[in-house]
Amino acid sequence: MNRTLASSCAFAALFTVVLAAQKPAEDTLAESRIREVLGFLASDELAGRDSPSPGQDRAAEFLAAAFARAKLEPRGHLAGQEPSFFHAFTLPGVQLSTKGAKLTLRRGDEAQELVHGEDWRLWENGRAFTVRGEALALPAAGGDPRAARRAMSGRKLRVVPVETTAPVWLAAAGERRVVSQRVAGAAPLILLRAELATGEGATLDATLPAPEAMDVPLRNVVALLPGGDLADEIVVVCAHYDHIGVSPVAGEVDAINNGADDDATGTTAVLVLAEHFARRATPLRRSVLFACWSAEEKGLRGSRAFTEQPSVPLGSIVAVVNLEMLGRPERESAPFAWITGAAYSDFGAIAEAALVERGVAVEPFAMATQLFAASDNLPFAQKGVVAHSISAGTLHADYHQPGDGPERIAYAHMTAVVRGLAGVVEAFATRDGKPEWNEEGKRALARRR
Ligand SMILES: [Zn+2]
Repeated sequence: MNRTLASSCAFAALFTVVLAAQKPAEDTLAESRIREVLGFLASDELAGRDSPSPGQDRAAEFLAAAFARAKLEPRGHLAGQEPSFFHAFTLPGVQLSTKGAKLTLRRGDEAQELVHGEDWRLWENGRAFTVRGEALALPAAGGDPRAARRAMSGRKLRVVPVETTAPVWLAAAGERRVVSQRVAGAAPLILLRAELATGEGATLDATLPAPEAMDVPLRNVVALLPGGDLADEIVVVCAHYDHIGVSPVAGEVDAINNGADDDATGTTAVLVLAEHFARRATPLRRSVLFACWSAEEKGLRGSRAFTEQPSVPLGSIVAVVNLEMLGRPERESAPFAWITGAAYSDFGAIAEAALVERGVAVEPFAMATQLFAASDNLPFAQKGVVAHSISAGTLHADYHQPGDGPERIAYAHMTAVVRGLAGVVEAFATRDGKPEWNEEGKRALARRR
């Protein structure tokens, strides 16, 4: 750095201090906070936040700690339980087991006993399995993540050569739990250390024990901001914090499905909105429940578990504002959003007025009606609660792909949308009337019950 620059930087630093001192209040819906939260949730470290996974656990702890710092009330617990931000539920699943497993790799007269952990790891298995002299038709190391995902539910033994630095190799350490949906009856998917997967004519003998059935524990993260004169009525602001984890492919390609847009954007919005409203000097009229759902990607399972065993009376919920995919507009334009199933209730008109007032256009989206049934608003709607999803982007080519990373999020767009959403939350939490289903909505719901 040269001298002139150094002195101008010192000046800039001084100037910043003066500005900071004059600034009336901290901007609680700042792009920098959005980048920070989303950057963590969608980082490779969290490995795609699969249900269940250590990465998802870290996301849950992070969200709960942030809610606690913002001084929101824990509201995940049920009556009679210790106060907690975690709303616990289980899904049927299995504990994969390698106890008594035996793998032998043969090349001509050579036989090599493979060591679990070092030479191979188990990614999936749905049943007791034995095979002798299975020819190893190995895909090239690396490979196409889409093809690998397609191959994930198989009748035949699947062996994938993997570098020991690959995310899937690391994710397969120890004994994993998997929800049943993914493994029911499936043959094993074995990760084989890439160096062993060379040479022609190799065969494998494999004996694997059946996985043990178990209820896999998962957690929604739920916090309450108490309201004022209508505190018994609740607006739910929510998004799913789970995603689909890593793909069973080797080191060279990106195998981590970061789920930045889907749905770290929605989760980030829930958290920064919680932080924003928690700092208000006067409470909103209604209470606001901020909720981050697990296992959406397994079939809306976290939100469904909440509606089956709610930690607040379902009848007290006046509206559910579910947030999905806010960060990939995929075009240069003024900020915009769209609402699923907007024709079914007056939720859409109320939300639209609030968004437009804060500079966010509301546009039609080709699949908006269809997508009403594709996210966590649905289990609430099926119980009669007015519940819609708001999105602010497209179903882009990176949807459910490793390319859905934090570096591709349009942060200025997302920040503008989150500011608009603050208006939506305020509208539902302060207006006199409650949103209601209309005749078209009632008919649509009758078909979905
Ligand atoms: Zn999603």
